[in-house]
Amino acid sequence: MLDEAAQNRMRHDIAGEVHFDAFTRGRYATDASIYQIMPAGVIVPRRTDDVAAALAMARDQGLPVTMRGGGTSQCGQTVNSGLIVDCARHLNAVLELDVPGRRAVVQPGIVLDELNRLLRPHGLWFPVDISTGSRATLGGMVGNNSCGARSLRYGTTRDNVLSVSGLLADGSAFDFGPVRGLENGSAHAGLVSQMLALGRRDADEIARRFPKVQRRVGGYNIDALVPDDLSDAPVNMAHLLTGSEGTLAISTAIELRLSPLPSSDKVLGVCHFPDFRAAMEAAQHLVALGPTSVELVDQTMISLARSIPMFTRTLNAFVRGKPAAMLFVEFADSPDENRANIARLHDTMSDLGFGFGRNGPHEGGVVEVWDPALAADIGELRKAGLNIMMSMKDAGKPVSFVEDCAVPLEHLADYTDRLTAIFRDHGTEGTWYAHASEGCLHVRPVLNLKLDKDVKAMRSIAEAAFDMVRDYKGSHSGEHGDGIVRSEFHEKMFGTRLTRSFEEVKAAFDPQGHLNPGKITGAPRMDDRSLMRYPPGYAFQDIDTGHDWSAWTGSAGGFQGAVEMCNNNGACRKLAGGVMCPSYRVTHNERDVTRGRANTLRLALSGKLGRDALFSDEMAETMKLCVGCKACQRECPTGVDMARMKTEVLYQRGQKLGYGRRERLIAEMPRYAWLAVWLRGLIGLRNRVPLLARLGERVLGLARQRSLPAFCADWFREDEIAEAAVSTPKSPGDVVLFADTFTRWMEPQIPRAALRVLIAAGYRVHAASSPEERPLCCGRTYLAAGMIDRARAEAQRTLKALMPHVRAGRPIVGLEPSCLLTLRDEFLTLLPGEDADALAANALLFEEFVAQEVEAGRFRLPDNTPGIASNTPAAPRVAHVHGHCHQKAAGAMGAMDTALSALPGVTPKVIDSGCCGMAGAFGYGAETIDVSLRMAELSLLPAVRAADPDALVIANGTSCRHQIADGTDRHARHIAEVFAETLGATGFPAQTAAPEPLANPRPGGDRDA
Ligand SMILES: Cc1cc2nc3c(=O)[nH]c(=O)nc-3n(C[C@H](O)[C@H](O)[C@H](O)COP(=O)(O)OP(=O)(O)OC[C@H]3O[C@@H](n4cnc5c(N)ncnc54)[C@H](O)[C@@H]3O)c2cc1C
Ligand code: SF4
Ligand code: SF4
Repeated sequence: MLDEAAQNRMRHDIAGEVHFDAFTRGRYATDASIYQIMPAGVIVPRRTDDVAAALAMARDQGLPVTMRGGGTSQCGQTVNSGLIVDCARHLNAVLELDVPGRRAVVQPGIVLDELNRLLRPHGLWFPVDISTGSRATLGGMVGNNSCGARSLRYGTTRDNVLSVSGLLADGSAFDFGPVRGLENGSAHAGLVSQMLALGRRDADEIARRFPKVQRRVGGYNIDALVPDDLSDAPVNMAHLLTGSEGTLAISTAIELRLSPLPSSDKVLGVCHFPDFRAAMEAAQHLVALGPTSVELVDQTMISLARSIPMFTRTLNAFVRGKPAAMLFVEFADSPDENRANIARLHDTMSDLGFGFGRNGPHEGGVVEVWDPALAADIGELRKAGLNIMMSMKDAGKPVSFVEDCAVPLEHLADYTDRLTAIFRDHGTEGTWYAHASEGCLHVRPVLNLKLDKDVKAMRSIAEAAFDMVRDYKGSHSGEHGDGIVRSEFHEKMFGTRLTRSFEEVKAAFDPQGHLNPGKITGAPRMDDRSLMRYPPGYAFQDIDTGHDWSAWTGSAGGFQGAVEMCNNNGACRKLAGGVMCPSYRVTHNERDVTRGRANTLRLALSGKLGRDALFSDEMAETMKLCVGCKACQRECPTGVDMARMKTEVLYQRGQKLGYGRRERLIAEMPRYAWLAVWLRGLIGLRNRVPLLARLGERVLGLARQRSLPAFCADWFREDEIAEAAVSTPKSPGDVVLFADTFTRWMEPQIPRAALRVLIAAGYRVHAASSPEERPLCCGRTYLAAGMIDRARAEAQRTLKALMPHVRAGRPIVGLEPSCLLTLRDEFLTLLPGEDADALAANALLFEEFVAQEVEAGRFRLPDNTPGIASNTPAAPRVAHVHGHCHQKAAGAMGAMDTALSALPGVTPKVIDSGCCGMAGAFGYGAETIDVSLRMAELSLLPAVRAADPDALVIANGTSCRHQIADGTDRHARHIAEVFAETLGATGFPAQTAAPEPLANPRPGGDRDA
């Protein structure tokens, strides 16, 4: 640890951020590996000079420096005890783009997908398409010599790097590329000539010992130093740096070779196999057809993917029968060539003896996928392979250490058989997937690394596996690099002489061992438990939780297991697509991403962040920008549910320290809403008089620039349902309308619209509770504040009132996604049991109910609705639809499309938006409004402003409508309002009878219950 004076000097000399607190250091203590080392400090440089300053000071203090991009390394490359330097946040620019020359110079922190998004309009891309492209940086890719699924065609990162500039360990700047001759006095001429001499000296040994597979990323690329006698290509020093894992030099600018975008004409042949070995034997024959990639998924992966809602539709679209393994064979050439290739693929599969309907060991064949959207979804599914596996909730987890060995294709079947047998001998098993075309399959045996015996098993498996790989002349490190987990085995794999050469390279570049020591050379044992995330003595604090966490294992009723689900793969760091994690997309701060929060929680509860870390202000800060959007619940491949965890943390803090004034004010809104109606004049005044707004900010922390919602005198009452109740002679069914706090008191036209539409469509509508009672409430506002006990009380009341309806088989239809979906989500952990399950199964959003009825052929608007059966055509309208985060998390967006299809003339267009940024109370907070507005400006507000003035804007979330109203001049509607407007002057059908009264109405008033 640095002394105070050194810390201050760093803060003074570095323009970027400098952190020495335990919370920040803890967030940088892990990557996607099994290791964890607390660094001495974290630097987030704003400019390249900061990197030089950090390096100089680390040298002064005798500290190691470890560079970091997305921190997605699987072998422990980015964990170390010195300074961690995070390039991803600020050093992420494209410095130069030469379109005709097909080259670009980038800073190391740029994320691959972001770079490719910028290149796309120019018809170019960086073609190393790794699975983590949404968050991996070019600096990290060069560090690890990363390899994409299409490496068969494009090679590895090394093959696509032209030159690298940066800093050597002594602080001197370098610019390494092709070496065309060494002029005396040229910078680093001595170092370069030493390396060239080493290449010449070791040429024969390299030829003998380096594996003859494309996927070899272990050790230093000293083969790049060997002159190529066959071609004129000069030695490229940048290729030695590629794959050196930040141990030789720091890159600050990387020159890349770009490729033309691949043909959009692609076809995927999904080859189905009846058993795993058959697929492995077939791989070499399929590769001979010249595809761009051949990727594997096995049966376990398919069945795990089936349990994840976001993959169900994709799987149903291309999986035929129950294959034991599938190989995805991609051709990306001209349409004619693709057709010819896919025909050859059919022939090859047939020659190998496979055909659909042949049954038994011959059951199999090719499913052709020509639809680019489906092919992209299949690609996503394959890329999510590891994460799908990691979604196992048990204490044992698939562990990465023999994950990416590569063997020549002719040995693939024997290799996988033998490794499976090794796993079996150690009482475990693994799931296979990934790059069959390169003989580089991913597999992770399931182990519980909290147990010493499983750590021993890991080492024993690694030794046996690497022996076998060496026998096949394969590579023990075929994709993910060396880090801690693989480096100690270099001597076994490359031999003593080349291992000494690796050490010579390290010593020449970094004699004092400042740059990421202990990786590639001088490595510790891979099974040193003191370096692991779960070291000996690891214990998770037992706390009384507010939620039920029993779906997971471990202490605190399973909360431990839920927190430990995060494997640090970094999918939450993506900057586009989906919704997770919206606040990170604004701040780019590791603290504000799901991973950062999960790591902080794990460290706090395992005693690594000091006493009472759970209740600390630092923990509150860590959780502050989580908007509770639930996107992680759906999009985090391992299902880390940070929205619920945040509620738990707020609950724990509240129990210990009490709740804040603003939190209580917002949480209790369902109880005092009737009073707010009385005070609505005063609330309106606050919105108009800046002095009052400032006062509100000072006293309650409510941002002065945010308008407060208007409470309505004509709030929606339960007895309106009875008054409007009708029953057509042929009613399609009964429903219960669940009016929530927000629409009831602030936008009563919405429940009225829903009521009108449901009745117009012939449904018998029931009130959720008796008019004399205090209206029902889902407890959402309490949950947002962490008042889990209060939320549970509301949930209990609501469950009790709704159960008679549920038992009568009536769907419960709600309007506000965050409220209705609480019945399907948090109720299950607030009140676990059969009743909550039954209610969850019966609770539907308005659009889900309509969609369900449309699909069942039961939903029909009256014939005199324009465009239905009358002669009046419906005016065509485009509806721009913004989905509420909870709608998206629940996978309910498809229902919007289906429901809107019942409206004549309406063409829905889903806005490609993330979170609106309002997120309940978040958008009102004086300290969070800035992020709230920036989140809205990422996509939603620009899209709404760009919408045609005549178009409809639909947003079902009350917060989303509020943000749109505050940020644009548009008025967004709830879908129920759009339906009601379509009815126009159409009246209700003739009334025949009121709906049956509630089976078990609750007597008496309950205003203050
Ligand atoms: C789920 C999952 C799937 C994966 N799939 C693939 C895959 O398909 N193909 C593949 O090749 N890998 C894969 N990986 C591994 C990893 O994602 C890649 O190696 C990735 O390129 C790392 O990028 P990063 O930005 O996260 O780098 P980091 O992990 O942050 O760093 C990687 C290395 O580069 C060094 N480094 C970073 N910046 C610099 C710099 N400026 N100067 C010098 N050194 C630097 C670091 O010190 C470290 O040694 C996968 C990982 C996971 C978790
Ligand atoms: S929170 Fe989920 S997506 Fe993010 S790193 Fe952890 S496991 Fe991956
Ligand atoms: S709930 Fe939303 S904001 Fe919070 S961690 Fe999950 S994705 Fe991020």
